[in-house]
Amino acid sequence: MKLIWTIPIFTLDKLKKQVYTVFADSVTEELDYTNFKEKAQLVCVVYTMCGIVGVVGNTNATDILIQGLEKLEYRGYDSAGIFVLGGAENHLVKAVGRIAELSAKTAGVEGTTGIGHTRWATHGKPTEDNAHPHRSETERFVLVHNGVIENYLEIKEEYLAGHHFKGQTDTEIAVHLIGKFAEEEGLSVLEAFKKALHIIRGSYAFALIDSQDPEVIYVAKNKSPLLIGLGEGYNMVCSDAMAMIRETNQYMEIHDQELVIVKADSVEVQDYDGNSRERASYTAELDLSDIGKGTYPYYMLKEIDEQPTVMRKLIQAYTDEAGQVVVDPAIIQAVQDADRIYILAAGTSYHAGFASKKMLEELTDTPVELGISSEWGYGMPLLSKKPLFIFISQSGETADSR
Ligand code: GLU
Repeated sequence: MKLIWTIPIFTLDKLKKQVYTVFADSVTEELDYTNFKEKAQLVCVVYTMCGIVGVVGNTNATDILIQGLEKLEYRGYDSAGIFVLGGAENHLVKAVGRIAELSAKTAGVEGTTGIGHTRWATHGKPTEDNAHPHRSETERFVLVHNGVIENYLEIKEEYLAGHHFKGQTDTEIAVHLIGKFAEEEGLSVLEAFKKALHIIRGSYAFALIDSQDPEVIYVAKNKSPLLIGLGEGYNMVCSDAMAMIRETNQYMEIHDQELVIVKADSVEVQDYDGNSRERASYTAELDLSDIGKGTYPYYMLKEIDEQPTVMRKLIQAYTDEAGQVVVDPAIIQAVQDADRIYILAAGTSYHAGFASKKMLEELTDTPVELGISSEWGYGMPLLSKKPLFIFISQSGETADSR
């Protein structure tokens, strides 16, 4: 159970839809979707949870990466890996299974810069070959990726004839494409990355390293989460501030379709055409005790024990001083207007939806239907005339319910 829960609520009123992101203490991010098709597409895309970490310019790079990956374990994964450079030699280490298995293989892995990844397989089995980081044809470029590249087969066919692939992932195609542009066409790393980003379609958070240059990590994102963490004399990238909160509470957002050049002493944000973008940093207010396992052997035990505290926090967030329940009137109105409530969620969030179905039906007098978010778009039922959608996302990101 996370401190901040994101519960987007879609209200479909013929052509006008809205999404509310409900945090523990506020309702924000109201978005408008202008037509139903667009929304249906959003539902169709399967997003994955998993994680990226990276660090540039710190002699403890391996520790920072491994500890960061441990913090991302809650997101679910089947394999993991790191690439570390800037020491006596470059190291690529991968393992199927837990971070502990990966960590056990990192004795002697030293360097100043690196990237790490927890994978949730979407393309290819959870094997060591398919685990990230992936490398280009000549092994010069190294990439980690969260998300799904929709046109990877077209890219393979159109650009990568004669290339040899170690696994079946969409990610390997992306790093081969970048490598091709840099090595076969002679573009700079930045130009090659940009050219590839103009071609790649889908969801991604990328962290790219040129193994000949330990001074820089290139990142880009579209629909998958990624942040920059600002350290003292070094910088980091991560899917979630929790991964790096031990190192820093200063973060910088990256927006969709932005590319960031991360060095130890500078962070430069650009759009895909090379125009610079200003970005202020912000302070992440996270409590370290919320993210570690503490004295518990498993997160699940800790989370079970945390339930009363979390319930108290939620009740506090939704009641005023007199103990009266306070909910945004727009949400109440949306519920009153609906003739059917659809809860879409996956995994544990699906169970949470299931648990709330009966309660919601009793409270609202409206039938509630449940769907698995990753599957729903592929076989959408006939919708009622005034449906209300509740999307539940355990991670605090709406990724698995888009
Ligand atoms: N699609 C990529 C793969 O299957 C990345 C999955 C992920 O986000 O972990 O390797």
